Amino acid sequence: MMRYVTFCATLALLSACGETTDALETGIPQIQTPASVTRPNDTTFEDVLAEYQALNLRLDRVAASLRISNTSLCPNLIRDPGFSIHRLEDYPQSVQSMAKVMLGIKEGGLFIRSVRPNTSAAEQKLTPGDEIMAVNEHEISPDKVMTVYNRAVLQNGFESVLSKVRIQTPEGQEYLARIKPTTACDVQAKVIFSETVNGHTDGEDVLITSALMNAVPDDTNLALVIAHEMGHVIAGHAKMPQSQTLELEADRMALVLMARAGYDVNEAVAYWERAAHPHEGGDSNNSSHPTTRARYENFQAELKRIKKSKSLKTLEFK
Ligand SMILES: [Zn+2]
Repeated sequence: MMRYVTFCATLALLSACGETTDALETGIPQIQTPASVTRPNDTTFEDVLAEYQALNLRLDRVAASLRISNTSLCPNLIRDPGFSIHRLEDYPQSVQSMAKVMLGIKEGGLFIRSVRPNTSAAEQKLTPGDEIMAVNEHEISPDKVMTVYNRAVLQNGFESVLSKVRIQTPEGQEYLARIKPTTACDVQAKVIFSETVNGHTDGEDVLITSALMNAVPDDTNLALVIAHEMGHVIAGHAKMPQSQTLELEADRMALVLMARAGYDVNEAVAYWERAAHPHEGGDSNNSSHPTTRARYENFQAELKRIKKSKSLKTLEFK
């Protein structure tokens, strides 16, 4: 089924969608819930939201190259407009008043959450906080019960080569943005605020914790984490019992996805080798996670296979 962008935002503080179930990785993050978020001028909260925007932008950017370069390997595709959106209703009730102030979003509307560089959306100067009023002359409804209708407007609206998106800036100015959507894998990457270093998937989306993103300042390394989780999604691993075999398969798939997207896979494995491995499997064969040694040998074998390939862009999974 085709879905559109990120209706289900995972802002700081709480997951609006409860998507931490069925995680494939060990150490499922505990979402950090502050005791109180009632003061609008709370600078800590302001900092968290600023960080949220920055993390989303980075995650969207790194995931985009993997999603766009690997459409022939993904079972489900979407038309990606180069920006992601969110709604006030995506956020838990307790932080909505804060989100209004900090993110400039209101009830009933669809708002720009992040804009990827080097897209028509960026060229057309779309900015986080802008509201989407209509797509190809189909108005977005402010009525809460029209969620399904709004979703269809967006989904159908980006099927064409050129989409006309009517935007209203926070200052109330309206303009028509000409958006050229791109076909991409329908795997969304989302940030979850957590102090636990972890990446996992619920079978549809890739969920990366803020702590993990901060622990991997290099985009190649972040891409390896995203690509590993994308591998789980593409192979449908969420429906199977966790096992070392699936983990090693996701690792091999990750290198293929990365090579096709133009990432330096040698560097990725070298980074991985030097990194700490908090969720490393034990020596026991009963562990669902392979040992670091087993993963390393698996990576090396797949690197060897990839290097023999004549064209990285048409590389297939093993
Ligand atoms: Zn995994």
